[in-house]
Amino acid sequence: MNEISQFSYGISVLEISYVIASVLFVIGLKMLSHPLSARRGNSLAAIGMGMAIIATILFHQKDGKPIGNIGFILAAIGIGTVIGWVIAKKVKMTAMPQLVSFFNGMGGAAAALISIMEFPHVRPELIAEHGMANGHVLAILIGLMIGTVSWAGSMIAFGKLDGWIGDMRIKAMKYVNLTIMAILIGFIVFIMTRQVQASAELMPYVYLMFAIAVVYGVLFVMPIGGADMPVVISLLNSFTGVAAAMGGFLYNNQAMLTGGILVGSAGTILTILMCKAMNRSLLNVIVGVFGGGGQAAGGEEGTVKEVSVTDAAVLLSYSKKVVIVPGYGLAVAQAQHLCHDLDKLLAEKGVEVKYAIHPVAGRMPGHMNVLLAEADVPYEQLVESDEINPDLPNTDVLVVIGANDVVNPAAEDDPSSPIYGMPIIMARDARNIIVMKRGMGKGYAAIENMLFFNPKTRMLFGDAKSTLQNLVNEVKSL
Ligand code: NDP
Repeated sequence: MNEISQFSYGISVLEISYVIASVLFVIGLKMLSHPLSARRGNSLAAIGMGMAIIATILFHQKDGKPIGNIGFILAAIGIGTVIGWVIAKKVKMTAMPQLVSFFNGMGGAAAALISIMEFPHVRPELIAEHGMANGHVLAILIGLMIGTVSWAGSMIAFGKLDGWIGDMRIKAMKYVNLTIMAILIGFIVFIMTRQVQASAELMPYVYLMFAIAVVYGVLFVMPIGGADMPVVISLLNSFTGVAAAMGGFLYNNQAMLTGGILVGSAGTILTILMCKAMNRSLLNVIVGVFGGGGQAAGGEEGTVKEVSVTDAAVLLSYSKKVVIVPGYGLAVAQAQHLCHDLDKLLAEKGVEVKYAIHPVAGRMPGHMNVLLAEADVPYEQLVESDEINPDLPNTDVLVVIGANDVVNPAAEDDPSSPIYGMPIIMARDARNIIVMKRGMGKGYAAIENMLFFNPKTRMLFGDAKSTLQNLVNEVKSL
């Protein structure tokens, strides 16, 4: 094979690999939309990514030469694979949200690093012809800004989800953040309008821009608290996608572009859905001004009534309609299998059992769907909160298992509450309410829940796993 045909052979194999990888990403993403196919979808997308990486290493050429530093690249892939593998194997299910946030941050950091590495290498002939105001420089700077914000923001989100970073609220935060955002955009305009021979001359501004983007990433996530974290997490996901897509433009790499656009658009759609679910505006998320946490809704509580396992089992077994509201505590207790055992036992007794799924229950988008899919709960049994709410007045017993904020009536009743306006599962509309939790601990939003003091509510205290085990035994014996 002569040199030219070898070159075009390499190019076409590379392009075909990218097309196949892109198709695998799309199919994989589609399969992620259903719990039954999600696992295979994830594997397909991973195969696509693996293929794109291998094809790039083998066939990518710059100025007719294959890529160098293969040893370093393989070593980095090896180290990254081992670290990722060990972390993913060891992580507890309840720590998944933080891990996802951390990994998302790594994506943003990679995009930012690409920009920092590529900025000084903008081709001089491009600068001579168009100045700095060209698409290449714009892609680098947008990738730097969004990638850095995503990285810094995700690290703060990681700390918050892991519980070692609290909320920080500064008065006029909205204006501080809007000003920083304007400064970042100003930097892009400034850099692109400079007259220089080589882009490397502007590196100090690029570093400054990076530092300011870090500050913005930190400040925009720091005040988000209460129940609003999921919106910001999905927004950060979409940022990482957009930043990666910028890398795709930069390298004219279709796989990177498709992957980035898919993550960016999926994240944006999720953010919009989350905003709707939380009744928040997208602009407020971007400037980091909504939500808040830690404020306990004021004063008068009532009496809490308890129920024994036996009474709860009788109540459930002789009901017609039961709705289970799973929450973060179910994931903590890892009691999803027992929960499914309970619903199967009740179904055998002729009880109709449904699960009410709130979009932000748990600690990551879709957390309850994943958790219940793990226990093979049929997807048809899961009903979105807005769909199940009208049915709750006809529900004999609503069982809250380790959920708190998503059933908190303060979202409806208390305009001073940080979760005010968030649509909730209208638990108090049910005829009877049983709440399973360990004690009177608060939820993520750290606010009191008056549902627990409602005259229709009975508390069944204890770890969800042991309580469910006792309940299953009791129901069996009836
Ligand atoms: P919450 O965090 O409101 O409440 C969970 C409850 O579970 C706690 O009150 C706790 O009470 C109880 N609990 C903990 N461990 C156990 C256990 N082993 N057995 C029984 N109960 C237990 O959960 P929700 O799912 O209702 O709400 C999710 C919250 O997290 C929302 O505020 C949401 O915005 C936020 N969030 C969601 C994200 C997402 O993407 N879905 C991401 C980040 C935050 P006790 O200590 O008394 O047992």
